[in-house]
Formats: sequence, structure tokens, C-alpha cells
Amino acid sequence: MTMTAPVERPWDRRAPERGGPPSAWALLPEDLAAHGCPGRPEHVFARLQRVRTWREDGSLFLSREIRAWLAGNADLALPAILERHPSADGSTKLVLGMTDGHRVEAVHMPRGEGDPRVTYCVSSQVGCALGCTFCATGAMGIVRNLTAGEIVGQVLALMLHMGPRLGENVYLVFMGMGEPLHNLAHVHRAITVLCHPEGAGLSPWRITVSTAGLVSGLEKLARMTPRPQLAVSLNATTDETRSATMPVNRAWNLARLRQALDAWELKRHERILFEYVLLAGVNDSLEDADRLAAWLGDLRHRHNVNLIPMNEHARAGFREPAEERVQAFAARLHQHGCFITVRRSRGRDVQGACGQLVRATAGTA
Ligand code: SAH
Ligand code: SF4
Repeated sequence: MTMTAPVERPWDRRAPERGGPPSAWALLPEDLAAHGCPGRPEHVFARLQRVRTWREDGSLFLSREIRAWLAGNADLALPAILERHPSADGSTKLVLGMTDGHRVEAVHMPRGEGDPRVTYCVSSQVGCALGCTFCATGAMGIVRNLTAGEIVGQVLALMLHMGPRLGENVYLVFMGMGEPLHNLAHVHRAITVLCHPEGAGLSPWRITVSTAGLVSGLEKLARMTPRPQLAVSLNATTDETRSATMPVNRAWNLARLRQALDAWELKRHERILFEYVLLAGVNDSLEDADRLAAWLGDLRHRHNVNLIPMNEHARAGFREPAEERVQAFAARLHQHGCFITVRRSRGRDVQGACGQLVRATAGTA
């Protein structure tokens, strides 16, 4: 008996060892063709990915023959929206359920009155392995990666239930649960599908991947196409403090991280976003601001620094600095010529803010 080795397509099945059908949401036109899908593959792909062409109830506008083929050959389950927690600031935290019962969280953030654009903060993993000591997701450890189908499905479910249905108005930030570069194959596959010209209409210009500084993944992503925008969670300016709060720094320290960023080519108008969570008495001194500016060095003109006062939660003992302290830190960076915004995290009143996303399975919080 001859056996053909299964084709390695890690992104298309939730659990390859279970041999389930591939997720319909992670298939590119060429995969549909290779699987024997009837009809023109680009057309079927467009109908799958373009939420604005779906019926109001979420069903697909495709011929009976193609729908029957899809039902038999692909997994059409979208993550379910289990909970919606609207915040006073206009954003909504959502709890999404995967078909195996695991839950992740996403945040829907409209720009404001009269502006059709919306930013989705999405998850890449259930939990996170990196264990940053200020982060609620880190405290729960890693449960599992999301597959590309689940990541694309997360975005399409948000478009269907929360809007907008037009992908051109969607901005995506991978700043929800998980370290996206720890799940690079699936995250990159999802970005490829979402940015396909026949697909949902997203663009790598409007997608930001945020990393805690996983240099091995960063160096791979730098060479990938499409390449999204980069955000780096810096959060400390000495190796001592950074290693104590972000264990990933023990593998790739500040100097190594900075070196990796030199290899991240920036096109015109591109910037690297640095997130800096201010922890009272830990990383919020004026000397920290000086060191941060020095570390940026010649990135001084190609960056934005987001200062994020710590969102306090039960799983971490850190405190948010006093307002004067935040302002003094920002002013000092400004003197050094840095570009800064102070991010009052959205969704704080519903625990939807940075580092507060922690829902693994039904019942846990
Ligand atoms: N793992 C990735 C992306 C998810 S975390 C990363 O670390 O970049 C998204 C952002 O939330 C990161 O910038 C992180 O530093 C920040 N964050 C984590 N815990 C926080 C907290 N308690 N308060 C404010 N921001 C927090
Ligand atoms: Fe993971 Fe990011 Fe939280 Fe660190 S800050 S534990 S990398 S999700």
C-alpha cells in the first residue's frame, strides 16, 4: 500500500491531528481550487471573505452547488460572540467563543462620530506564554494558539456583528490576548488572507502586530510579504528592570532588540510604534525617559511612543503613576524630540483595556 504524506498546511485545521476539514476562512483561492471547489476560485473566495456580500443573517450568497461543496469540505464555523460589554467611551469589549469552548477577547473601537473607520484589537492566542508580570493575560499562561481560520473568523465575525462591513474602514491591531510572533505562521497566514486583493479589503498599512520583543519572530516577519506595521512593547529601559517584568528580555535583551529593529526596513511614512506601560516607581523616572530616548537613537524620527499608564487589575501588584508623573515623563521625552501620545486605554470600565484581557474558558475570569 502506498501512502502519500499529508501536505503541511498548519493554518487550515484547528487541530491537524484530528484531521478535521480546513477552516473555510483561511483558504486562499488557490487552496479552494486545489481542494476541488466548484466555480471560479476567486469568486468563491470573494464571497467567503467580503462580509458586505453576505446576507443579513450571515449566510453566504453562493450557488446551492458551491454551498453544498463547502458544507462537506470546509469548516464554516465563525467564532461566536458570547458577550458584549459596551464601555462609556464608545468601545465594546467582546468575548468570542471558539468551537472547542475556549474563549478570547477582542475590542471594537470606533474612531468617533461621523468617521466610518473602526479599529479592532484582536487576539492571537488563548493566553500567553511570555509571562510579563504586569499583564493579566500573561498570568494565565498559554492555553493554545489560535489558527489562521480562527483569527480571520474573529475579524469577519466583528465585521458582521459590529461593523463596518467594508474592510477598507477596518484597522487591526494584534494587541489582544497573546504574543502574535509566538504564533507567526497562523498570524501571517491570517494577514495574507485578509489583505488578498479579492478578499475582505484590509491592508498591511492598516494592520499592526504588537510584540513584546520576540526577536526570532521579528526577524522572520521583517522578511515576509505582506508585512504589517510593527509595534514593540518596550516597558523598561534597563535590562535589569525589563528582565524582571518581561522574561522575554532574558533571551533577547534591549541591545539585541534594538539591533533587530535596525533590520526592520521602514518605507516612507512608516513608523515603529513603541508601547511603554508606566508602572509607578518601576519604570517612570526621568532617568528612564532619558534612557528611552537614548535607546531609540536614530529611530528618533521614525517612531511614535505610546505611554500607557498601567491598567490596574487583580493579578498584578503594580500601580498607575500619578498624573503629574505621567506628564513629567511625557514632557521629558518631548524635550528629547520623541513623538509621544499618552494612551488612556479604552474600555477600562469593562476590563477591555490593555493587559486586562483574560477569559480562557467558560467560567474563568
Ligand atoms: N503580546 C503582545 C501584544 C498583546 S499585549 C505585546 O506584549 O506587545 C498588548 C499591550 O498591552 C502591550 O503593549 C502590553 O505591554 C500592554 N499591557 C499589558 N499589560 C498591561 C497593563 N496591565 N496595563 C497597560 N498595558 C498593559
Ligand atoms: Fe503576553 Fe503581551 Fe501580556 Fe507580555 S504583555 S504576557 S507578551 S500578552
